[in-house]
Amino acid sequence: MYRTHTCGELRIDNTGMEITLAGWVQKVRNLGAMTFIDLRDRYGITQLVVDENTPDTVRPTAAELGREYVIQATGTVRERSAKNPKMATGDIEIAVTALNILNRSEVPPFTIEEHSDGGDDLRMKYRYLDLRRPPLQRNIMLRHRMAQSARRFLDNEGFLEIETPFLIRSTPEGARDFVVPSRMNPGEFYALPQSPQTFKQLLMVSGYDRYFQIVRCFRDEDLRADRQPEFTQIDCEMSFVEQEDVLEIFERFAKYLFRETLGIEFDYTFPRMPWSEAMARYGSDKPDTRFGMEINELTDKAHGKGFVVFDSAEYIGGIVAEGCAGYTRKQLDELTEFVKRPQIGAKGLVWIRIAEDGSVKSSIDKFFTADELLDWSKDCGAKAGDLMLILAGDRMKTLAALNALRLEMGDRLGLRDPNKFAPMWVVDFPLLEWDDETQRFYAMHHPFTSPKPEDIPLFDTDPGKIRANAYDFVVNGTEVGGGSIRIFDSALQSRLFETLGFTHEAAEKQFGFLMNAFKYGAPPHGGIAFGFDRFCSLFGGADSIRDFIAFPKNNAGRDMMIDAPAELADAQLDELALKVEKKA
Ligand code: ASP
Repeated sequence: MYRTHTCGELRIDNTGMEITLAGWVQKVRNLGAMTFIDLRDRYGITQLVVDENTPDTVRPTAAELGREYVIQATGTVRERSAKNPKMATGDIEIAVTALNILNRSEVPPFTIEEHSDGGDDLRMKYRYLDLRRPPLQRNIMLRHRMAQSARRFLDNEGFLEIETPFLIRSTPEGARDFVVPSRMNPGEFYALPQSPQTFKQLLMVSGYDRYFQIVRCFRDEDLRADRQPEFTQIDCEMSFVEQEDVLEIFERFAKYLFRETLGIEFDYTFPRMPWSEAMARYGSDKPDTRFGMEINELTDKAHGKGFVVFDSAEYIGGIVAEGCAGYTRKQLDELTEFVKRPQIGAKGLVWIRIAEDGSVKSSIDKFFTADELLDWSKDCGAKAGDLMLILAGDRMKTLAALNALRLEMGDRLGLRDPNKFAPMWVVDFPLLEWDDETQRFYAMHHPFTSPKPEDIPLFDTDPGKIRANAYDFVVNGTEVGGGSIRIFDSALQSRLFETLGFTHEAAEKQFGFLMNAFKYGAPPHGGIAFGFDRFCSLFGGADSIRDFIAFPKNNAGRDMMIDAPAELADAQLDELALKVEKKA
């Protein structure tokens, strides 16, 4: 038996017990007469002590120990004289009586402790060592618990866990596909699924009326901090349901996860906000409702006073930063620089300070009277001591910029507490999104999403106005899940493909299998998928999903540890009937 206990287990009640632990040496502190060894496993850290009472046989072995040696230590549990209240095992230590080195370690390239001294790249390269660190171990264990809770809930509700294939043909979820060449079919390629969307719909046709899968999805997108080329969804689909049924069951699902994982109870129904309202009030389809600072439209009031920037703008809107009237020139310049960043794209920032004495000062004093500015500020709910920040331009772009500014101010003012959760549903998304560049409509969710029946006549007159039976589950400004009620009628499906610019032949080629299936008795159905990595990072109070994935890729899509992607040998290329233009 290698161990009697784990390194996170022993407490003051175990005093006097003879025990054996096994684990990794996190740190050795040699104080001459005494040596302290922090022994770590995934359960915790226990302090071992070698002192003048330790048997002579142990001391030479203790002197040899280095970081990350794997050892087995036997000894007696005793109360510590200097207790460490920050450690679960901080009341006790082990007086070592026998020590056995199970394996030696080279000096690790960075410290493997709560906080490491290693840079990102180095830690990615040695991910297996970084994964030994307690914060990452906590994340991976949190993820495990969430996955188990999700399975438990869904199983209890009668959902069947069914796997769907990875080697498929392209599914249109709006991103680029990863492709895999087929050796047996030279010149042909599989695509990796962007999601199991079409398969879960086919399972509904097959009569498996409640399906789920915790499943990897692949999207070849440029990576941002919170994206990975492969990520995991909790993917679900149900038959004989309307939107209300899906929201009801998955609201209970989310509450179950909050309760089981974090011990948080929600005793209210999550708010539901139509997409158009979310855009108008927050400039985002995933509003962070942990704090107010809502957007106020000023277009009508601010137009026609001779200020070109405003007069030429389709939309003018502002937010109120409470208590920020004292912002210095430098702080205002910083905010101006912030909104002018290319990814935000505002041309400039207008500010109005409402001083404690009620007087106003603004960057647009020349064009507007103090009374006019005060009138706006009243409309927006600003009071003495507040700062108004205003942006103008194209409606959607300006709303998006106001959202970014609002979140920035929320961060600056400490209003985005990671321990506070504001879950909500965003509903009534538009079905279609017009793209100026390609001059065509795209499906806002995906092309299997059903329009609201009452909006179907708009296909002939104003397709951009059709609302979808689509919904997102949003928490703290993050889209944690999204889904829709699907089209289950092949004629309506063809109609939508047509509106999306597919010729009959193209639609037939890409989705013929699905439209055919719909001819054989497709039940009404709908579903949702949760971004599991994001759900985990949200629960873990972190911004990036990377720390919740055991082996993630870096921002360039590389796995630094196994050094992938990599070139193929010529023989392999030949086998696949592929020719690669060699990099210069
Ligand atoms: N397949 C969709 C997605 O990945 C989710 C759904 O509609 O169920 O976003």
